[in-house]
Amino acid sequence: MVMCKDVVENIIGYIDAELDDKTLEELEKHLDECPECQVFVRTYRKMLELTGKLRERTFVTPEIRERLKQLLKSKLKPN
Ligand SMILES: [Zn+2]
Repeated sequence: MVMCKDVVENIIGYIDAELDDKTLEELEKHLDECPECQVFVRTYRKMLELTGKLRERTFVTPEIRERLKQLLKSKLKPN
C-alpha cells in the first residue's frame, strides 16, 4: 500500500520518469485517490518549471533531494 510518504520518497523519480512500472503504477493509483499528493506533485513540478531545471536531472544533488524531502514531509499530514 502506497502512502503519502512513499510519494514523497519517490517524487523525483516520478517526475523524471525513472521509476519502474510497478512503482509508477502504485504511485499513480495513490495519486488518483489523494488530493494532497496531487497538489504536492503539481507544486513540485511547478517549482522545477520555474527554475527551468526540469530537463536538467543533474541539478538534483543529494543535498537538494534531502532538503526537498524534509520540506515536503513537513507539509504533509503525518500518517
Ligand atoms: Zn497521498
